[in-house]
Amino acid sequence: MINKLYPWQESLFAQWMQAGETRHHALLLHGKTGIGKLDFAQTMAAALLCLEPQQGFACGVCQSCHWLSEGAHPDFREVTPEDDDNADSGKKKTRKRQQILIDQIRSLHDYLSLSSHRVNGIRVVLIHPLEAMNVAASNALLKLLEEPPPRTQFLLISHQRQALLPTILSRCMQVEMPVPSREQGLHWLQTQSVPNPEWVWHYSGGAPTTVQQDAPDWYAWYQQFRPHLVNGATIDIAAAVPLLIKQGMEQAIQALQKWLLDLWLCCHQQPLRYHHGETGPLQALAAAVNLSRLLAFQQQLNRFKMTAQHPLNQELQLEQLLLQYKKIFS
Ligand SMILES: [Zn+2]
Repeated sequence: MINKLYPWQESLFAQWMQAGETRHHALLLHGKTGIGKLDFAQTMAAALLCLEPQQGFACGVCQSCHWLSEGAHPDFREVTPEDDDNADSGKKKTRKRQQILIDQIRSLHDYLSLSSHRVNGIRVVLIHPLEAMNVAASNALLKLLEEPPPRTQFLLISHQRQALLPTILSRCMQVEMPVPSREQGLHWLQTQSVPNPEWVWHYSGGAPTTVQQDAPDWYAWYQQFRPHLVNGATIDIAAAVPLLIKQGMEQAIQALQKWLLDLWLCCHQQPLRYHHGETGPLQALAAAVNLSRLLAFQQQLNRFKMTAQHPLNQELQLEQLLLQYKKIFS
């Protein structure tokens, strides 16, 4: 689908499309994950490149729209992370870092040194996420942003603006992407026929667009995993680990992080953030929590998340994590 805009983005989209020639050549679209930044940028790219836009949107049928949906538009470049084979070379050969590499930005330089496919046509460069650039790539991009090629629109996406170099930030127009209100988010989830929209809205932490892609699975999976968490100190690790593996490391760690945060909130008589309607079981667990162990486990999970891209032995690592979980209940 060439146009994918969320209701909470409509006015911002209209504003940027109407800006025309006065639009900054490098828009940095930033905000938390799960609010539709990439969809916004792709919709904008399509509209800018379309030969016959309809009320500001790509028509979906012209040659340009056709090329774009085929992933073969000569005036569009998308730059995303590639596995860095050189990362950690000699140490952990199985672990790769997902980075935007300097070679990718160099080839962007080459590409932009040629003129656009259409005479006086616009070119669009989409880079995401920007924080995946290593320092060398950032510096190479900086040159492009400082001396932008004519009629080139950079659409840059960042989930962690604070991780970007100040020099990069200073060369962009920073656009804080709107987040959906509860009403907007719930309504949107309902229109997508997502089961249990209320639960999904809370569990996504108000960032529904990532959930939507795998929400039916996610809810069903959570229903299976939940009893293990609720069991606290008596968790059946051997039965819980395969469920976590099934969900993938990133989601598994996130599920544990969310549960621990709500457990922590419960210990402090605060409203829950993710687990809507679970106050009862969490309060029961909170009564037995050793707070300093809970905090230590949260920190351990944060560290684990940073290094868990390609773990060597997922099963063993998850077993150890759940053992730590068991221990926070004294
Ligand atoms: Zn079109």
